[in-house]
Amino acid sequence: MKITVIGTGYVGLVSGTCFAEIGHTVTCVDIDESKVAMMRRGESPIFEPGLNDLLERNIKAERLTFSTGLESVKDSKSIFLAVGTPSGDDGSANLSYLFQAAEDVAKNISDDAIIVIKSTVPIGTCEKVKEIVAKNTNKKFHIVNNPEFLKEGSAIEDFMRPDRVVIGHNDPEAANAMEELYEPLVKQGNPIYMMSNLSAEMTKYAANCFLATKISFINDIARLCDTLGADINEVRQGISSDRRIGSHFLYPGPGYGGSCFPKDVKALIYTAKEHGHTLRVVESTEDVNDEQKLYMATKIKKHYGSNLSGKTFAFWGVAFKANTDDVRESPAIYMAQDLIDAGAKVRFFDPEGGPNFMKAVGEKYHKSIEEVSNKYDCLSGCDAMVTVTEWREFSTPDFSEISARLNEKVIFDARNLFKTQKVLDEGFTYYAIGKKI
Ligand code: NAD
Repeated sequence: MKITVIGTGYVGLVSGTCFAEIGHTVTCVDIDESKVAMMRRGESPIFEPGLNDLLERNIKAERLTFSTGLESVKDSKSIFLAVGTPSGDDGSANLSYLFQAAEDVAKNISDDAIIVIKSTVPIGTCEKVKEIVAKNTNKKFHIVNNPEFLKEGSAIEDFMRPDRVVIGHNDPEAANAMEELYEPLVKQGNPIYMMSNLSAEMTKYAANCFLATKISFINDIARLCDTLGADINEVRQGISSDRRIGSHFLYPGPGYGGSCFPKDVKALIYTAKEHGHTLRVVESTEDVNDEQKLYMATKIKKHYGSNLSGKTFAFWGVAFKANTDDVRESPAIYMAQDLIDAGAKVRFFDPEGGPNFMKAVGEKYHKSIEEVSNKYDCLSGCDAMVTVTEWREFSTPDFSEISARLNEKVIFDARNLFKTQKVLDEGFTYYAIGKKI
């Protein structure tokens, strides 16, 4: 199948490259000329494990090309819209990129083109896109909603072996074409669920809000453990062995971040309000998360007092989670800003997220933040270490090296990375989230 993918972010570039890998002819389009120039050289503009190799192979095989224009749309059977749908000021999803892309694509399609909305979009958006496309073409077309469930950091594996594929559609012709496209990816028997566009749009938000709720739930319980002296690791094991509960997404930490959960939680709350509903559980999920992002900063201020002038903190990790360079809505941003507002300085090391973090944290903070290219050098001259991202290379550090570098032996472990007894035996003062110390 000839495919065009509009938008080459984490979703568009991974989807396009994986479709090429299974034999389709794919053109990935982006309005960002510098990104397109990089991809044409075979370089990925994002860090995603395994992506560079796939890019190189499929460019060489001439199955994958890149463009800033829409020439490929005319010959494409499917056109995937994978542009951003960021939060607007009021929490609603900003659909301006999507609507613009839909209008531009509409002017270039051939008869029977399938326009696939892969971006996460509010319930009812497919209908709006249908109207936009109809206004801009007299060709016959189909609209499909195909929400994406990949996770940054394991995006290729997730795309190539999805737990399920969700297809929202209004006609069997488009549904059949999508089924054919995805069949090679669900050979192990995972399902393709066909449903209405409305249900597909809702499925994506329900999934993300549920996952965000699991995170806020365990963080809430962890905070109560801190107060009562129970240990969240023991509690987590105790509950997650119950198959009704399961073990995923029950790790306490600095709160959820990234480009999806925060904005999707906000957008569903907004959609519900628009229709006279209050999503009380989801609203609480957001409230808990807003507090959680600053929970460790609060512990830091309890330890040192609220004036942090003269103190420097070493952050291990700033990406919103491990294995990505994405720092959008990363808790590290909020923690760094809070500590600096209280007079502190921050040094940080992150294997991939540094340049994005400096942009995201805001210029106002730059004079108080320094990026360091090695995790141990990052600690030199700092008053305490703060683990923020669970990169694997942070999990079994050389504690004598940490001890030698820090001014004082204090660790604030916002990811519960370390074994409590080990850290205490090494002579550190240790703070974590919900752990008995
Ligand atoms: P992103 O911000 O990383 O990338 C979006 C890209 O679209 C940018 O490169 C931008 O230049 C490009 N773009 C914008 N308007 C364009 C246009 N008119 N023509 C061509 N290109 C255009 O976004 P992302 O993280 O890949 O997310 C895309 C969508 O997928 C969002 O709706 C998001 O919620 C959803 N999603 C994201 C993830 C994830 O892990 N990032 C997972 C599932 C779903």
